[in-house]
Amino acid sequence: MTKRDYYEILGVSRSASQDDIKKAYRQMALKYHPDRNPGNKEAEEKFKEAAEAYEVLGDPEKRRRYDQYGHEGMRGTNYREFHDINDIFSTFSDIFGSGFGGSIFEEVFGTGTRTRQRRSHQHGTPGADLKVTIRLTLEEIATGVEKKIKVKKLKTCDFCRGTGAKSGTGITTCPQCNGTGELRQVSRSMFGQFVNITTCPTCSGEGRVVKEPCPNCYGEGRIQGETTIKVNIPAGVSEGNYIPLRGQGNAGQRGGPAGDLIVMIEEQPHPYFSRNGDDIVYDLNISFPSAVLGGEVEIPTLNGKARLTIDSGTPAGRILRMRERGLPRLNGHGRGDQLVRINIWVPTKVNSKEKELLKQLATMEHITPSEEERHGSSKSFFEKVKDAFS
Ligand SMILES: [Zn+2]
Ligand SMILES: [Zn+2]
Repeated sequence: MTKRDYYEILGVSRSASQDDIKKAYRQMALKYHPDRNPGNKEAEEKFKEAAEAYEVLGDPEKRRRYDQYGHEGMRGTNYREFHDINDIFSTFSDIFGSGFGGSIFEEVFGTGTRTRQRRSHQHGTPGADLKVTIRLTLEEIATGVEKKIKVKKLKTCDFCRGTGAKSGTGITTCPQCNGTGELRQVSRSMFGQFVNITTCPTCSGEGRVVKEPCPNCYGEGRIQGETTIKVNIPAGVSEGNYIPLRGQGNAGQRGGPAGDLIVMIEEQPHPYFSRNGDDIVYDLNISFPSAVLGGEVEIPTLNGKARLTIDSGTPAGRILRMRERGLPRLNGHGRGDQLVRINIWVPTKVNSKEKELLKQLATMEHITPSEEERHGSSKSFFEKVKDAFS
């Protein structure tokens, strides 16, 4: 079987612009789209044929080759014939939209997922999700904590229990849409007649309206209010984590489902601890004599004080690891460590006696680094940091 000319298939001239080709293909695809022609084999073939033509002519490089050599020229290139319709949708997703079936159809026929979702709700619109932020200290994160938070939100109206109807009056079928929640309108377009479905404005798609609105909530079924909510925060959380509380957000309209309350975790800066994952990093200033002689020091940790031994001859910058003194791991067992980085304290105020002693000290045999000792190791600063943390 001889193949038809690609330009002929798309109904464009050989000098058509890329844009014209795209437009022509779009129209073809609409005309022969399988959704519009269920079970029609001929339309399916035409749909595939147009896709093949567009696969070549839609690509300037392949189009040049085709112009020069015709169908022969396409052999051995990475051009494809379409056997499966799904391939067409995924290959030209810019034209069809990413989902199977194609978004242009949703636009044209007004039967997009939004309308479908809306129609499935027989009750009022759902309440919105709310977001609150809780600031926690590292100490609270270390132990886990129960927090009470005040939340301003839409609550179910007590007068009408969320129905929106004045007590003693009822709810009746919407007179505009007769309870269907949607309005249908037949329109004409270049593709023929189609039905346009819109949500009924009178009942917002609910299909029912209150006879007389509740005087407390004006028929909304919910009113602005405030609640206190208890949140249990597990140990080991970190900034950016969040805890969703289902159904604790805004109440829905007229008995619709409530939204969620999203509790965002924020970490308060600590005066002297910082955090690296589950490890706690702490800078300790020690005197020059303690660095030389060594000794024991008391160190603050997230769970009380602890003693730490400084070896004699500890240099500035050394990082000491205190096992299991960090934060509990959120997923799993055990806890991180506390890393203590040693700094040598350099006093900025000294009295005359101290000054005298320091001058004497500076002249002594082991106090000032020798010519060789003045150079640090060639290991980069970052490598040292990595060593310390591994
Ligand atoms: Zn209605
Ligand atoms: Zn009410």
